[in-house]
Amino acid sequence: MDLSLSESERDLVELCREFATREIAARAPQAWDESRCATDLLREMGELGLLGMLIPEEWGGIAMSTVGFVAAMEQIGRADQSLAAAWQAHVTIGSLPLYLFGTDSQRERWLRPLAEGRVLGAFGLTEPDAGSDARGIRTRAEHRDGGWLINGTKTFISNAGTDMSFGVTLLARTDAAGDGPQRYASFVVERGTEGFTMGPKMRGIGWRGLDTRELYFEDVWVPDDHLVGDPEMGLGQFLRTLEVGRISIAALSLSLTQAVLDLATSYAAERVQFGQPISKFQAVQFKLADIATELEAGRWLTYRAAYLRDAGQPFQKEAAMAKLKASRVATWAASEAVQIHGGSGYMLDSPVARFYCDSKVLEIGEGTNEIQHLVIARALGC
Ligand SMILES: Cc1cc2nc3c(=O)[nH]c(=O)nc-3n(C[C@H](O)[C@H](O)[C@H](O)COP(=O)(O)OP(=O)(O)OC[C@H]3O[C@@H](n4cnc5c(N)ncnc54)[C@H](O)[C@@H]3O)c2cc1C
Repeated sequence: MDLSLSESERDLVELCREFATREIAARAPQAWDESRCATDLLREMGELGLLGMLIPEEWGGIAMSTVGFVAAMEQIGRADQSLAAAWQAHVTIGSLPLYLFGTDSQRERWLRPLAEGRVLGAFGLTEPDAGSDARGIRTRAEHRDGGWLINGTKTFISNAGTDMSFGVTLLARTDAAGDGPQRYASFVVERGTEGFTMGPKMRGIGWRGLDTRELYFEDVWVPDDHLVGDPEMGLGQFLRTLEVGRISIAALSLSLTQAVLDLATSYAAERVQFGQPISKFQAVQFKLADIATELEAGRWLTYRAAYLRDAGQPFQKEAAMAKLKASRVATWAASEAVQIHGGSGYMLDSPVARFYCDSKVLEIGEGTNEIQHLVIARALGC
């Protein structure tokens, strides 16, 4: 496995490093404090081509490799996790269903504006009574009058309620209740469609700059050409999309771990107690050495999953392992980094405290870590 970056991947990393340092790090913390999605920054990222990362040029994207995307995330996520979360949700689960399963006319209509960074994409799977158990969704789509009548509620949906959002690609059941096997299909519902409304932005422990909401569908009618992909295989399509999302959450986790390692290392070198920098105490040194080692382990798993996807090989188990390992490392490392900062790390004005708040969701989103265990165990034949 050759993980050296190509010239275009290195150029991308440099572009992201520069944008993250100059713009994101300077402006995103204010959006976090104000619990506001920084769509101004996302629009600028769109102008740089960063919103069409994994989409071919033919459809307005920049056709970047998954390895390149992970490397770019390492730069963006170090500057701000909420913005990186919104970005990665758009690039993976928000855009890929249309690219992977849509018709050319659907790609032209909805994917191109997403890839060119003119609008933001959202993925509607989770419901109040169905999270890990995706098969248990209750949203229904009934074929009616040359289209589909959709009724149901989605929850925790990211990127659907900003001033840049186009709507949502959602999953619904298409079988009549009690009518034999369950069938699922996915549909695009655009903002402004009659009967499609949403709740206020939800408030989380972290990712405060991410726009996450409940979405309500009351007799929402969409024409047949809003059905994306196979009318019976919608669940499989959504689960396939989530596999890429897991690599992305693993990459986001790496970026958080690197950020807290850097912050804790600098703080330990500056903070003097008992007449010397706390970095001279072995207990502190061991924490930093452990974080650096675990980060490297998570990094190899994540790049390997990305490499396998780029090589067209199966990567489901590896993506689950990468997400499981990297997110665990991130939440643990964030806690250790706060510990190294002492009381000042507990105060929300300090960047390490924000990363600590942002870390927990990495073990929950795009399939909880318990679900990653199930995916890995199944791949082992259990
Ligand atoms: C900030 C944020 C953004 C999100 N964005 C989106 C989005 O854009 N689109 C979207 O569709 N969803 C989104 N989600 C939803 C997310 O994917 C779900 O929260 C996640 O899949 C877990 O579902 P749940 O919250 O219903 O928990 P549950 O499924 O109810 O799980 C509760 C607990 O039970 C455990 N559990 C459940 N089943 C099993 C099992 N079989 N074995 C062992 N343990 C089990 C879980 O691991 C967890 O610990 C988002 C969530 C958050 C917090």
